[in-house]
Amino acid sequence: MSRSEYHERTESDADTDWHAQPLEAVYANVETSEEGLSPSEARDRLEREGPNEVEGEEGISPLQIFIDQYKPALIWVLIVAAAVMAAVGHVIDAGVIAGVVVFITVFGFLQDYRAEQSIQALKEMSTTYALVRRGGEKTEIDARNVVPGDVIFVESGDIVPADARLIEESNLSVDEAALTGESVGVSKDVGTVDADVALADRENVLFKDTVVQRGSGTAVVVETGSDSEIGQIATALEEAEERDTPFQAEMDRLGKLIALGVVGIVSIIAITELVIGDTPPLQVFLTAVGIAVSAVPEGLPAVVTLSLALGARRMADQNALVRRLPIVEALGSVDVICTDKTGTLTEEEMTVQRIVANRGTYQVTGTGYDTDGEFLQDGEPVGAERVAEVLRCGMLCNNVDVGTREREEGDAETDSETADGERTYLGDPTEIALFVAAQKAGFDQRELAAEYPRIGEVDFTSARKRMTTVHETPDGDVTAYMKGAPETVLERCDRELVDGELVELTDERRAELEAENEAFAEDALRVMGFAYRPDVPDSQAADPDEGLEQEMVFLGFQGMLDPPRPEVPDALSGCLDAGINVVMITGDNAVTARAVGEEVGLRSTTVITGPELEEMGDEELRDVVDDVDIFARTSPDHKTRILQTLQEKGHTVSMTGDGVNDAPAVKNADVGVAMGVRGTDVTEQASDIVLLDDNFATIRDAVKGGRRIFDNVRKFVNYLLSGNGGEVTMIFTGTLAGLGLVITPIQVLWINVVTDGIPALTMGVDPAAEDVMNRDPRPPDEGVITDRIITSIVGIAAFMTICLLPLFTLNFYGELVPGYDVTAALVGWSPGYEVGRELAQTMVFTGFVVFEIVRIQAIRYRYGLGLFSNNWLVLAVTIAVALQLLVLYTSTGQLLFDVEPLALVHWVQIAVAASVFALLMAAFVKVQDRYFERY
Ligand code: ADP
Ligand code: MG
Repeated sequence: MSRSEYHERTESDADTDWHAQPLEAVYANVETSEEGLSPSEARDRLEREGPNEVEGEEGISPLQIFIDQYKPALIWVLIVAAAVMAAVGHVIDAGVIAGVVVFITVFGFLQDYRAEQSIQALKEMSTTYALVRRGGEKTEIDARNVVPGDVIFVESGDIVPADARLIEESNLSVDEAALTGESVGVSKDVGTVDADVALADRENVLFKDTVVQRGSGTAVVVETGSDSEIGQIATALEEAEERDTPFQAEMDRLGKLIALGVVGIVSIIAITELVIGDTPPLQVFLTAVGIAVSAVPEGLPAVVTLSLALGARRMADQNALVRRLPIVEALGSVDVICTDKTGTLTEEEMTVQRIVANRGTYQVTGTGYDTDGEFLQDGEPVGAERVAEVLRCGMLCNNVDVGTREREEGDAETDSETADGERTYLGDPTEIALFVAAQKAGFDQRELAAEYPRIGEVDFTSARKRMTTVHETPDGDVTAYMKGAPETVLERCDRELVDGELVELTDERRAELEAENEAFAEDALRVMGFAYRPDVPDSQAADPDEGLEQEMVFLGFQGMLDPPRPEVPDALSGCLDAGINVVMITGDNAVTARAVGEEVGLRSTTVITGPELEEMGDEELRDVVDDVDIFARTSPDHKTRILQTLQEKGHTVSMTGDGVNDAPAVKNADVGVAMGVRGTDVTEQASDIVLLDDNFATIRDAVKGGRRIFDNVRKFVNYLLSGNGGEVTMIFTGTLAGLGLVITPIQVLWINVVTDGIPALTMGVDPAAEDVMNRDPRPPDEGVITDRIITSIVGIAAFMTICLLPLFTLNFYGELVPGYDVTAALVGWSPGYEVGRELAQTMVFTGFVVFEIVRIQAIRYRYGLGLFSNNWLVLAVTIAVALQLLVLYTSTGQLLFDVEPLALVHWVQIAVAASVFALLMAAFVKVQDRYFERY
C-alpha cells in the first residue's frame, strides 16, 4: 500500500478526531492493539510512513552556503577589479583575479559545507529514544522510527515522540508549551472528549515534542512526523541555537577593524603612488584594490568555523557531544565543574551489599547484575526469609522493566547492555540494584506483580527523595510500599516490623537505626529505607497524594555499593592541576557523599547539606561557597542557587544534570552538561554538551578539547594576521621608499589564499599543547587576540620587512650590472629600474612562502609543538612549497604570476634571509616570554 492510499483510508474513516473516538476505534483505525506492533509490521510502516521527523529540520542547503560566499563586499571589489582589468585589455590579469575569486569562494564553500556537515552529523547523534512495545516486549528505539500503531511508554522528563492517544496514565502531567506556547502542566486523562474541543483541552491525547513533567503513561501512536499536530504547524521545538558569544563578537570586531585599517593604509599607498610615483592612475587603482583585498584574511571566518566543527567532531568521538558549537570557547575558561555523584563519579552498576531487617544486619554476596547471591549474617549463610519483606518492598516499589534496547552503531554502551537487542534491565540503576537483590531471594517480578497488582503511585523526585506505590494484597486489602532516603522514610514511620510483629518505633530505636544508617554511609554505601503501610483507607488509595505517606511500618535498610569509576581519581586530579575545582552536588546523604569524595580525591570534603543551604542567607553562602566541595541531600533547585552564587563570584561554571528539575540549572550554566545514558530528554535539550557515557572523565576531556581548540584558533589567527601584516608593511615600506610595488597584488592573493591558507587550516587540528591541562583556565574576558598576539603580529611584520626588503633591492639593482653591484643597491634609485623588478618581486614573493615555515615554528613554539607534531601541517607546508615551485618553473605559472625562475644563487639568498629571520624570531619570542606570562 502506498503512503497516500494509507492516508486516504485513515482520514476518511476517522477524520483524525483521535480524541473523540473510543479507544477501540482508535486501535482499529491504526490497525493495532494494546500489544503494539510486531517488529516486521513496524518496519513496513516505517517504510510506508517515512521517519517520524518534522520537515524543515535540515540545515543550510549547499546552494545557500555557496551564495553566502558572495556576501562579503571584498569579493565584489575583486570582481569589479577583474572586470576593469578585462575592460582595459589586461586579459591575463583579469583571468587570474577571476580565478582567485573562484578559488576563494569554492574553498570557502568547501570549508563551510564541511562544517555544516559536521554540525548535521552531531545533530544526528543526539537522538532521542522512545520506549515502545514491539513484539509484546518493551523496547527502546530511536524516536525517529516510531510509527502509527506503536504503543509507547512515557514518564517524567521524556519528550513525547509522536501524537498518541492515551491508554493508561498515572498522575500524568505534560508541558505543552511547544504546541500551545503556554508553559504550564496540563494533566492528562484517559476517556474520550468532544470532537470540537480545542487542542489544549484534548486531555486524552499526547502531542509530539511536548514534555512529560510528572507521572507516567502508556499511549498508542496515531500520527507521526509531519502529520503530527506540531508537524502541521511546522514549529519544531525551537533550539536557541544562535547565541552571539564573545568569540563571534570578537571576530566581527576584528574583521571591521582590519577593514578600516586596510582602507586607511591603502589610501596612503594610493596617494603616495599618485604623488611621487610615475605609475599610471589605473594601475594605482588596481593596486589599491588588490592590496585591500589581500590584506584582509578572507579565509579566517571559515577556518574558525571549520576548526570548531572538526574539534566538536573529535570530542564526540570521545563521548562528549557538543550541541552548540560556540560553547567550545566557554569550555576553555571553565574553572568550576559541578558534577553529580551517582553515575558520573561512580559506576552505573550498583549492588546491594548490606541489609538491615528484623533487627539484624546481613551481607549480600554476588556482584553486578548477576542474580546469584547469598545472604550472610556474621559470615554464616541465613535463609532469605530473614530479609524477604524488605526485598519484596524493593521489588514492588520499583519501576524497572526487563526488556530489550535497540542500539545503533556508534551509540555509547553501558555495562548493563551489551550487543544490540540484548535483554537488559531498563530503568534507574538504584532500582535495578533492588530488583536484582530481590531476585537473589527468589522473587519473580511477574508473579509478584500478579499477586500484588499496583493501583497507584506517588512518583520519586529528587526533591521528595522517596517513592510510594499502592497495591492490592492477596487477602483483598490495600497496602502502600515506600522506599527512599532513610531519614525521609523514618520520619513517616511509627512502627517497625520485627519477625512478623508490629513493634512501636521508640526514640531509642530511631537513634539506633540512624546510627546504623551512618555506619553504612561511612563505608560509602548508598542507603535506602523501606516501609509499608497496611490497610490503606479507600479514600487515600484513590487519591494517593493526600496523606498516604504516613503511619507507616519500617521494614529496613538496603545499602548498595556504587564504586567510584576507576578513571575518575585521575581525571579529577587532572582538573585540579588545570586550575579547575570540582564540586560534587548530590541528593545522597552527607556521610556517603564524603566517603565517595574522599575515594575519588576531591580537593576537600567540606560539606553543606541541602537543609543547611536553606538556612543560609545569600551573603553567607557567597562567603563560603569557594571552600565547599560537596553539597549533599540537595534538591534540584539548590543547584540553581549554587550555580548563581558561583557565577556571581566570577566563576565560569559547568553543571551536570539528569532529571527534569535539573534542566534550569543546566540551561543557566556557562557549560550545561547532560547525561546521555541516565538523563532525561528535557535536560538534554537544555544542555550544551551531552555526555554519551555519563562519565566524569569525559567532562575533563571536553575541557581539554575546548582548551586545545581555543589554542589552535589563537595560533592560526596569529599566523594569518601576521602574514597579512607582513605583506602590508612590506608594500607600504616599499612604496614609501620609492621602490614601487615590491610584490604584485596577484602574488599577495596567492599567498593569502593558498600558501598561507592551507597551513592555517591544518593548524586547526594541531594536537594539544603539553601544558594544556597544567595552566590556569583562561579568564572569561580574555579574547583570542591578547597583547602577546598583538606584539607577535607587529614583530613578525617588522622582521619580515627587514629581511625581505634587502632581497628586493639586491636583485632590483643587481640585474643592472652583471654580477652584484652592492654599491648600487645601497645608493638607491637609478634609471632603467624596471629591468630587475620582475626578479626582485619574485624574490619577495618566494621569500614570503619560505618564511611561512619559520613563522609556523615561532607561533607554535610557545605550545611545545615541533614542526612534525602535526602530519597535516607538514603536508600542507609541502604542498604550499610544491605549488610555489610550480608557479616559478612552469611557463603557465610564470605567465600568470609575472615571475622569473629563480637560480641557485637566489635560493641561497632566500635561505640566508630566512635564517636571519629565524634568529630574529627566536630572540623575539624569548623577549616576549619575559614580558608575557600568557599566550
Ligand atoms: P543522587 O543521584 O545525586 O544520589 P537523587 O536526587 O537521585 O541523588 O536521590 C536522592 C535520594 O533519594 C537518594 O539518596 C536516595 O536515598 C533516594 N532515591 C534515589 N532514587 C530513588 C528511587 N528511585 N526511589 C526512591 N528513592 C530514591
Ligand atoms: Mg539520581
